[in-house]
Amino acid sequence: MKYLCGVKMNESVVDELKKRLGKDKVFTDDFIRFSYSRDWSPRPADYYSLPEVVVKPTSTEDVAEVVRVAYENDVPVVPFAGGTGMGGGAVPVEGCILIDTRGLNRLLEVDKENMVVVTQAGITVSALNEELAKYGLWWPHDPESKPVSTVGAAIACDNDGTFGIRYGKAADYLLDAVVVTGKGEVVRLGHRKALCSSTGYKLHWLMVGAEGTLGIVTEATLRVFAKPEARIVEAAVFKSLSSAVSVLERMIQAGLSVESAHINCKKRLQFYTHAYRQKYGRAPEIPEWAEAILFFSFGGDKEVIEFSRNYALRLVEDAGGVLVKERELVESWWTSKHLLEFEPFKQKWPDSQRVKKFGAADLGIPVGRIEEAYRKYLEIAAKNGLEVLGMCVYHQRPNRVSPSISFAVFVDDGNPDEVRRFYDYVSEMSKMAVNLEGTMSTYIGDGERLGGFNRYEHGSALDYMLEVKRVFDPKNILNPGKKFTSKWIKD
Ligand SMILES: Cc1cc2nc3c(=O)[nH]c(=O)nc-3n(C[C@H](O)[C@H](O)[C@H](O)COP(=O)(O)OP(=O)(O)OC[C@H]3O[C@@H](n4cnc5c(N)ncnc54)[C@H](O)[C@@H]3O)c2cc1C
Repeated sequence: MKYLCGVKMNESVVDELKKRLGKDKVFTDDFIRFSYSRDWSPRPADYYSLPEVVVKPTSTEDVAEVVRVAYENDVPVVPFAGGTGMGGGAVPVEGCILIDTRGLNRLLEVDKENMVVVTQAGITVSALNEELAKYGLWWPHDPESKPVSTVGAAIACDNDGTFGIRYGKAADYLLDAVVVTGKGEVVRLGHRKALCSSTGYKLHWLMVGAEGTLGIVTEATLRVFAKPEARIVEAAVFKSLSSAVSVLERMIQAGLSVESAHINCKKRLQFYTHAYRQKYGRAPEIPEWAEAILFFSFGGDKEVIEFSRNYALRLVEDAGGVLVKERELVESWWTSKHLLEFEPFKQKWPDSQRVKKFGAADLGIPVGRIEEAYRKYLEIAAKNGLEVLGMCVYHQRPNRVSPSISFAVFVDDGNPDEVRRFYDYVSEMSKMAVNLEGTMSTYIGDGERLGGFNRYEHGSALDYMLEVKRVFDPKNILNPGKKFTSKWIKD
């Protein structure tokens, strides 16, 4: 077994934590430590690491006390939320105090007049929205992992979500954040409830994508929206990926407010048609020539979304696309986004993940180069002996075609060689993205996989990032080893 038991922590650290937080928030039992041994990143089944102690704070002051103890004793601290991250960001480092943020789960303020809310950061995305629904409000950040993943991690990983093309991602929602720095100081960053600001530096946005290496986010002030009255979901197939992209571009140019738009490659389309055949005993009427499927939706007042749909269908037709007639197929896509039920495998995600993991290179590719990137993806996956799951192009900037692309493959965790080949694949794919003038990650983050290797993308800018890290975390105790070193990829 290759688990890392950790550098034995001085017992006085645990005692000090118990003194400052109370015994009921500090845990050293093996079975509790083991439950934090890994996240959802592909890694060999017997490779995990354990924290020395787990703490479960419920307030900003609790978190600050933990970091102060860590600072005084030079002990690493790892924030761990839902554990659904796919880059190893929450995986414990040797000898660490692991902060389980999920006790920070209170919604602190609902300010309907200003359309903002203040929440503790450990609340799950679904729980936040259940609370907001009581006020007719909605936080439209919508990752598939929402029942488990948290607001703090959505900020820390700069995640994407179903409705990104209309509402954006963390930087578009985050107005203000309360953060505990690496010295255990509590600072408020941002511009309170103002929706924009030109003063100071945007330090709250530095927390976006920082993966817990600059500070632990304990509270966030978020822009929220009224829940749309109605929604229409459609799908159309196209002869090429680029014609699907052009139609989306036309919808936006025409002034339509597209609420979600995902373009899937032929391979992923085949999973949907296969699942449909299995379930209904007949094939859907999808033409043989279909190379891409665009799923899209409009949300808002009924009359407006009806108009939007009809206008969009005209654009689809003008581009030679064909509307998918089978509602069940369209709805199976929508279900897969919202119930963690990935229809193509007829299994719930967590079960399928245990057998064969979904692994992805999550790349930002310039819009005109998607076809080229897709061809290279098939080549690179084949070269590394990995089974292709398919490509999905999400869009993450408001009102813009803004590709965040998941190039997915299957990874069998029980096969260490396959895990190694997976990281070779991620390495080659990441370099390919940079060579196409894109970026190595759009939703997973650096974590333990791209850290350091990402110098290929950032060059000397990585040294400036390290300087910023020193300002917030002078002793390098906040999630060390993440973002700046890679466990899996060598240069
Ligand atoms: C089935 C499934 C579906 C998914 N769907 C999506 C999707 O649609 N879109 C998407 O972008 N991702 C998706 N993911 C990836 C994952 O859910 C996200 O990365 C998510 O942000 C992780 O949230 P978490 O609460 O589980 O965080 P964790 O995995 O526990 O932590 C993630 C990182 O954030 C840091 N962190 C956590 N909380 C804080 C905090 N309060 N302050 C500072 N740092 C913190 C951790 O140290 C770690 O580096 C999916 C994952 C799974 C397993």
